[in-house]
Amino acid sequence: MRYNEPSPLEQMIISYRFDLPNPASIDTYLANDGYVAIKKVLGMTPEAIIDELKVSSLRGRGGAGFPTGMKWSFVPRNTGKPTYVICNSDESEPGTCKDRLLMENDPHQLIEGMLIAGWTIKSNKGYIFIRGEYRYLIDIVDRAIAEAYQRGYLGKNILGSGWDFDLYTHTGAGAYECGEESALLESLEGKRGIPRLKPPFPAVVGAFQSPTILNNCETYSAIPWIFRNGGAAYAALGTPKNGGTRLVCVSGHVNKPGVYELPMGFNLLRIVNEVCGGVRNGKKLKAIIPGGSSSPVLRADECDIPYDFDSLAKAKTMAGSGGVVVLDEDTDIVAVALRTIKFYAHESCGWCIPCREGTNWLKKILSRYHEGFGDESDIDLIAELANNMLGRTFCALGDAAAMPTAGFVAKFRNEFEDYLKKSPRFQPAPELAVV
Ligand code: SF4
Repeated sequence: MRYNEPSPLEQMIISYRFDLPNPASIDTYLANDGYVAIKKVLGMTPEAIIDELKVSSLRGRGGAGFPTGMKWSFVPRNTGKPTYVICNSDESEPGTCKDRLLMENDPHQLIEGMLIAGWTIKSNKGYIFIRGEYRYLIDIVDRAIAEAYQRGYLGKNILGSGWDFDLYTHTGAGAYECGEESALLESLEGKRGIPRLKPPFPAVVGAFQSPTILNNCETYSAIPWIFRNGGAAYAALGTPKNGGTRLVCVSGHVNKPGVYELPMGFNLLRIVNEVCGGVRNGKKLKAIIPGGSSSPVLRADECDIPYDFDSLAKAKTMAGSGGVVVLDEDTDIVAVALRTIKFYAHESCGWCIPCREGTNWLKKILSRYHEGFGDESDIDLIAELANNMLGRTFCALGDAAAMPTAGFVAKFRNEFEDYLKKSPRFQPAPELAVV
């Protein structure tokens, strides 16, 4: 089921089965284009599959937006080692809740996307890594996997092709860091979830030291449509180099929060005003965090832009994981900055010093500032600390913590300055009573 009313502005190509009765069952899937793409793909060469993906301009939906066809082309074949297909469903970025819907409502679409990846690299084994807090989803996906085995879409000699593919779910333990691909692989292998040194990248040395395709749940879910309808048709839905649609998760101060499937390049302000019914209680828009909590904030006057990877990068922020957080005119930006850094300080895995120390120092300074005990030099200190973390941490979590913090100070310095007026040390001394 969906948790919000669909919008007439949506272009549903991967979410259209969400509203069907019993959407997660294999019978619903088979009656609605299910497992059509894999039949076609089993007659294609790996090169042809990768070329079709490149034509589609599909880019990874987990956050980085790396071109999927190119990623798959990096996987060496015929090395004598086993190869693996891994799905990153460790959805943990604040503001993001789309992979959850895909697994809950259309797990067979995900399985079919992973099958296509498996055939491309002649893999015999795949894992769906699901965040620990999504316990109920593991049961749904396990049921779908069992159905796929029963109908011959998983297991031995799939559809008479002579190819075997087994698929398993694996649960994380609730660490944000395990959404980072190499930390995910460590966790999958039963080790502490900390990142690996890169290169080598997972395509070459991934799960169990073997070549691996590792993509996000939404990325795999888009792949069956691409092979049913063609890469060019998918590319045409979006903007140049940003093919297809995006599941945009809108939360915060809007009238109709929810997950909406929109063509890549849909205008960000229109998402707020037309898709989500505008800012709640008739308030004015103050800002938008456009791609999950790690993306730098946009002021209201910067939000009239297409929602795709390149346009948001040009605006010095990110489409990230598709989590759009809307903030109205009454929002306390210092409080948002503090809440954000508290999350990252808590989730820092502690492996490298700039992130372990930096996030905690930012949390301490912002806490003091928020409580009214800051002084003017703190504003530059917060910005300097955050900017000094950028690019100096072992994995992207350090940047994920630093970028939004630096953004809040740069875009809303006036609000930080206004906080000083509330500070006890800037209050006039009480007048002494004259006796
Ligand atoms: Fe761990 Fe943070 Fe360093 Fe990443 S950046 S390795 S999360 S301490």
